[in-house]
Amino acid sequence: MDPRRGLPSVERVAAALDDDLPHAVRVHVARESVGAARELLEFGRDVHDEDVISDARERAIALQRRLLTKVVNATGVLLHTNLGRAPLGDDTLDAMRNAAGYTNVEYRLAEGVRGSRHEHAGGLFALACGAEAGIVVNNNAAAVLLVLATLARGRDVLVSRGELVEIGGGFRVPEIMAETGARLVEIGTTNRTRLGDYQRALTDATALVLKVHASNYRMIGFVSSTSVQELATLGPPVVVDVGSGLLDERTPWLPHRPEWLGDEPGVRQCLESGAALVSFSGDKLLGGPQAGIIVGRRALVDRLKAHPLARALRADKLALAGLQSIALAYLAHDASRLPLWKMATTPLADLRARAERIAAEVPGAKAVDTEAVAGGGSLPGLDIPSCGVEVEAVRPERVAARLREQRIVARIEQGRVVCDVRTVEPSDDDFLATALRVATEP
Ligand SMILES: *Cc1c(COP(=O)(O)O)cnc(C)c1O
Repeated sequence: MDPRRGLPSVERVAAALDDDLPHAVRVHVARESVGAARELLEFGRDVHDEDVISDARERAIALQRRLLTKVVNATGVLLHTNLGRAPLGDDTLDAMRNAAGYTNVEYRLAEGVRGSRHEHAGGLFALACGAEAGIVVNNNAAAVLLVLATLARGRDVLVSRGELVEIGGGFRVPEIMAETGARLVEIGTTNRTRLGDYQRALTDATALVLKVHASNYRMIGFVSSTSVQELATLGPPVVVDVGSGLLDERTPWLPHRPEWLGDEPGVRQCLESGAALVSFSGDKLLGGPQAGIIVGRRALVDRLKAHPLARALRADKLALAGLQSIALAYLAHDASRLPLWKMATTPLADLRARAERIAAEVPGAKAVDTEAVAGGGSLPGLDIPSCGVEVEAVRPERVAARLREQRIVARIEQGRVVCDVRTVEPSDDDFLATALRVATEP
């Protein structure tokens, strides 16, 4: 007898699933469960209809959990790349919503003629950091690619051996360079590179000098590197990939400069030191949507705009609209309202009060001092004093998993589950307290 005769039909299993998923998805899930049941039957195992249906229900739940959704970031990592980096605020979202329908992204309303998508946010960012011109592309990796392809194809690019870094997600400076057809000329040694090392490598084939901020690691000890100011004396344009997008080292948009910013380079200061172009991410310390921004000399930026790759790497209208609102906030010295800066600069006493309020609602929980970090490949080794809610658990992994079921990402430290509140929106505090109670129930 064919044992498969005993299996329920795919249609029947699909019909038993909640209809909050589209029919085609329910059928896909049902087919997987029926297939798995068939294998079990072939191994001689007993399979009942209810088993197949409950397996399909579990698969449907698992599939739903994999879909893109809101999460609560209780990791204390402000720019968590896996959690979408910088959170966006209402002003930015309003600007994006406003541009969501038809918008003048490539149209000049005054003249009624075709315009360029580079006429809005790019120019405002240039203004915000004292550059002649700016352009926005899809992300900072794309920005570096565009600069090298436009200005250095078939020519030499000088880079210190200490800056041949991997940024994460497979973005490696030497590999990006190979893709653009630029020739990498390695300068100096891993720990020390001097101006003379660059001078000796200069030839007629040198297109530019590239300085990459070692944003995700820190070298200490017998180290020296060459400043932008020194590099600018060499002759060829100096391009600086600063990564994080701190527009100004002095943070004029904040009442006080946070100590934890350390010596993170500012875009404005790189330009003042003589950089011809500076590139950075939109969604790191800038606090905006995903983008790559390049600011600097107009003649060079114009060449970037005209390169065919600029079309392939272009930012979409929503990102451009969001970034425009971000640029305006910086220009108004009002960027302290961006969620990133608000979270980053919340006074410790406020965080402690919130952590204590949450802990009071969760049996066995207490407020503790923690250390938050910037993350997103910026400010390595620099901690931001913070507060969190800690629960002791026999099996902390299990508590963390139950929090994740409720879309809360916490961290585990020395056998304890810690929810750092610096990266949690205050409006999510009640949700976090309830979720912690559920997750810690025996
Ligand atoms: C993060 C980073 C990048 C990559 O930027 P994305 O916007 O993630 O593409 C490149 N260079 C540096 C120095 C970085 O820190």
